Amino acid sequence: MWIDKSATWALAERLGGAELVDLIVRETHTCYKGDRAVLHRWGYGCGTCPACEIRARGYDEFLQRRRRIGMDRDAPNAYTRRH
Ligand SMILES: [Zn+2]
Repeated sequence: MWIDKSATWALAERLGGAELVDLIVRETHTCYKGDRAVLHRWGYGCGTCPACEIRARGYDEFLQRRRRIGMDRDAPNAYTRRH
């Protein structure tokens, strides 16, 4: 099975809600440089390596899809803290 990054975030939300998404943001790490100095909305990382770019793009697509289907109205504060 292969799903894109955006769908991976959506799957996490379906399985564990905003709590699981937040846990993945805070506790998982994909940055090639191992940078954990800055917590971005999508997690820790340098923000410029390919892994960080893909992760950031996938996370933003996930939020955009939520908005398109109106999920942000059901849980308006779930992902606003880091924005
Ligand atoms: Zn990085």
